[in-house]
Amino acid sequence: MSGRNNTDQQHIWHPYSAMHSDLPVYKVESAHGVRLRLADGRELIDGMASWWCAIHGYNQPQMNAALQAQLQNMSHVMFGGLTHEPAIRLTEQLLAITPPALQSVFYSDSGSVSVEVAMKMAIQYWQAKGKTTKQRFIALRSAYHGDTFGAMSVCDPVTGMHSLFRDALQKQVFVDQPTCRFGEPCSDADIAPLEQALKAHADDCAALIMEPIVQGAGGMWFYSAEYLQRARRLCEQYGVLLILDEVATGFGRTGKLFACEHADVTPDILCIGKALTGGYLTLAATLTTEQVSQTIDAGEPGVFMHGPTFMANPLACTAALTSIRLLLETDWQKNIQRLEQGLERGLAPCRELEQVAEVRILGAIGVVEMRQAVAMQAITEAFVHAGVWVRPFGKLVYLMPPFIINDADLATLTHTVTEVLAQQ
Ligand SMILES: *Cc1c(COP(=O)(O)O)cnc(C)c1O
Repeated sequence: MSGRNNTDQQHIWHPYSAMHSDLPVYKVESAHGVRLRLADGRELIDGMASWWCAIHGYNQPQMNAALQAQLQNMSHVMFGGLTHEPAIRLTEQLLAITPPALQSVFYSDSGSVSVEVAMKMAIQYWQAKGKTTKQRFIALRSAYHGDTFGAMSVCDPVTGMHSLFRDALQKQVFVDQPTCRFGEPCSDADIAPLEQALKAHADDCAALIMEPIVQGAGGMWFYSAEYLQRARRLCEQYGVLLILDEVATGFGRTGKLFACEHADVTPDILCIGKALTGGYLTLAATLTTEQVSQTIDAGEPGVFMHGPTFMANPLACTAALTSIRLLLETDWQKNIQRLEQGLERGLAPCRELEQVAEVRILGAIGVVEMRQAVAMQAITEAFVHAGVWVRPFGKLVYLMPPFIINDADLATLTHTVTEVLAQQ
């Protein structure tokens, strides 16, 4: 059993949970490589990379050393009126690996805030151009962009619980999620709903926001690269900016460094987070073009209106810089192919199960969609008992392991998922 600690149970909220809940919460004592060690001594193979983040695994020696060295210099200084090497070097690195048109970087602390910042940039851009009515956003159903109010307003209106916050949330324009799958073309009929929304709302919408190629927490859905290409062209045609939220997909997870590369599309504004620091510290960034940043500078009030206390935290920037270097110095594309093949091979038997609706794999993401929502407590206990850490939601049981997982551990992970799902 979980042996939930009293203080934890009575006083600490966990993500999307009740304060006074009997659901198990497992205490982790340490983590090394791809293994989480629980307080009772059990070790679990991590199938989640701590929600897309821990791409190099835990307790990575070079990451630890870089952070310890930075700690000796300074852990934090304010970013208003001051700057530092970790931010400068990280920025140079980000500019080198993201689409070349993106030249201006805004650092924040979390993915949600990077989305808030992107939305504010889009509104300030159109304000500066005298288009003061362009204050709303077009978003896709089944999207997930974060939990703060602006980000929440562009999440799927049903799973994002918009009814609960009805009068507090900005009403955005929603388009059905693309039905054309990854690897398939996108027909006129597939893109028509988006085109209609752009046409109808060109005057009141500042931007279209979407997760490129992979809709993550809103449904783990992989859609056509051509849909993204057509969306890009339509945004230009109707004078609406394109925000791509790569908070989940960035840094190799889909087989490209950024998922927008599958479609060879450059957004006007790009959000990154999660794996940015290799899961070590919380950091996110919003990148935009010279055109957008210069226009904002030239408008009223002549500055961009945002400035987090912990903006560009030096420890977090050091973690990000080191994590990106670690990724780039390996043959990471080949490694993601290895993971894709391992996930495909290992999860294929799930396709034979009555309870399974579909199995889909892209890069280092393996998704088993069940016909019914899984019983969270029972399935979590079954996974832990079998020595793996997998956290499903609703009908979706998915794996996105650390990139360093070896073939044997990956096979154990996929085999265990298959066995546990067969018992459902
Ligand atoms: C996780 C996620 C966010 C929110 O990031 P937080 O760091 O949890 O605020 C935003 N967009 C996408 C696509 C995400 O997966």
